[in-house]
This record gives sequence, structure tokens and C-alpha cells, in this order.
Amino acid sequence: MTTLPDRRLLLVHAHPDDEAIGTGATMAHYAATGAHVTLVTCTLGEEGEVHVPELAQLAAAEADQLGGYRIAELAAACRALGVTDHRFLGGAGRYRDSGMMGLATNEHPRAFWQADLDVAAGQLVELMRELRPQVMVTYDGNGFYGHPDHIQAHRVAMRAHELAAAEGFAPAKVYWTAMPRSVLEAGMTHFAGSSDNPFAGIQEAVELPFCTPDERIAARIDASGQHAAKEAAMRAHATQIPDNSWLYSIAGNFGSEFMGVEYYTLASGDKGPGFGPYGWEDDLFAGLPVAEGSDRTSVAEGSDQTLSDGANRAPVGATGQW
Ligand SMILES: [Zn+2]
Repeated sequence: MTTLPDRRLLLVHAHPDDEAIGTGATMAHYAATGAHVTLVTCTLGEEGEVHVPELAQLAAAEADQLGGYRIAELAAACRALGVTDHRFLGGAGRYRDSGMMGLATNEHPRAFWQADLDVAAGQLVELMRELRPQVMVTYDGNGFYGHPDHIQAHRVAMRAHELAAAEGFAPAKVYWTAMPRSVLEAGMTHFAGSSDNPFAGIQEAVELPFCTPDERIAARIDASGQHAAKEAAMRAHATQIPDNSWLYSIAGNFGSEFMGVEYYTLASGDKGPGFGPYGWEDDLFAGLPVAEGSDRTSVAEGSDQTLSDGANRAPVGATGQW
């Protein structure tokens, strides 16, 4: 059996670029501190817009070569993040980008939106069996903002967690990406009246689908030391994120606070020790035997100490619930 680092983190994302935008700092942080970071991307992002003019004909409606091109963009992004273990769910090209909700592309026979849940979850279970991650990161039930592939990634990840739990090797903790209301409100205040206001048309932070009350946030990962890695990973997805993107304009205004700090809710598992008024964890492994500073002898009860530690047997009763 392969020997992997003690701490193993699995991230399940829908398209190339989601890893960088949503969780890039977290990934870079854990990779840099010696954890095994595995990224699973469910589609090639074939239906994305192309923001590089000379590559415009790669688009789905033209040569339909964008998905293949984005494999290379994703590889470059992973290099920027220091992440070496990247997989496509079911292999590259198994599931196609479904496009935005309601479009005809949702009906494509290979669209991820059409995927058989147990088949797709089974593919993820095999990765869990191989890697035994203690922590999994994915989206909430609305897929953070409602894209069908993000919703499906959530469903597949949570179903895989359920199936792996039945076999005794589910990740002990499952997190969903989130943005605290206070952070969004600070951004809205900062940008109010500016010409490049990314919140234009939004009156209240709660109108944003990913707005989460601060008290429901479980973890705040301050990886501000990795903000440059995250930005480099985003720049690697040049077909998707143009130089004039609001993401970069926010980054320019908030710097490492925006680029390097990421937030999560805890969907399954026990919350570890935390800080501040809401007890936010500062480590996704908080409370687990493999967390930094934990008593390492407590992991020794598993029959296979290489890949089967006590953390993997934590209860998973809260699957899919807040
Ligand atoms: Zn996406």
C-alpha cells in the first residue's frame, strides 16, 4: 500500500478554474505544509466562454476543443498551487460540462447533470478507498451559486461520502465552501459608488446565494501567505478569467485578505477547537488526531497505521445537513 502523508485532503470541484477561485489558497496552504492534496475535477469545462480572442474558435459551438485546452490550464494551475495529485472524475472526458441551468447542453448524453449518481459516486468512492482522506471539501446543495455541475458535484461527493461511510472509510469531516455575510458586507461597503463595483445591483449581501451567516461558518483558513500562488493559479485559467475580471479588481483592493482567506461550513463531522466570537476553526483538520499539535499516539488504534487511522471512523450522521 502506498505511503501517503498523515494529513490527506480531497477537494471535489465541477470545472477547471473552480479549484483556484474557490479554494486555491487552502490547497496551496495544505500542499506547502506537507499534506496530501487531491483535486478531483468532474468535467473539462467545455461550455465555458473563451476570453482569449485568439482561442475563441476552441469554443463548444465552434471547434469544441476548449475542454482539451483546459486540461493544460488546469495542470498549470495545479503547478502554481503546488498540488501534484489531480484526477478527473471517471477519467478525462467522462463527464461533459452541462452549461448553465436550463440550456440544451444540460441534456447532452455525457453532461455531468445527466450522470447516474451512484455510478459517479462510485468513481469517487474508489478514490476515497485509495487515498483515505480525512477531510473532503465540496459545495453546498445549491452548488455555491446554482450551476448544474456544481450542484451535481455536491450530490456526487455527498453520496460518495455516504457509500464510503458504509464501508468505514469516509472522510471524518466534510466542508462546503461559503462566504460569510460580514465579509460580503465589508466588500459592498468598500466598493459602493465605484465604477467597477462587482456588487452592482445588489442591495443586501443576503441576495447573493453563497452568503452565509457568520455563525454558520465553521472554518476560516488564513492562507494569505499563499495569495500569490492563488492568483497565479487563476491566471493559468486565462481562457476563463480575463485580466479585467472583477476577481482581480477585488484582489487589487483587498489584496491577500481576499485572495488568501477562504471560508467553509462544516457539513459532516465534529467541529474542532476554534477562535473568535463564533469559534471558527483555523485548520480543516482541527480536532482530528492528525491535526497539528495533536497527540499523535492517538491514531495508533487502526489495524493499518499507514492509511487507516482513527479519524476515518468518525460518525457521519450529519451528511448533507447544516
Ligand atoms: Zn464551475
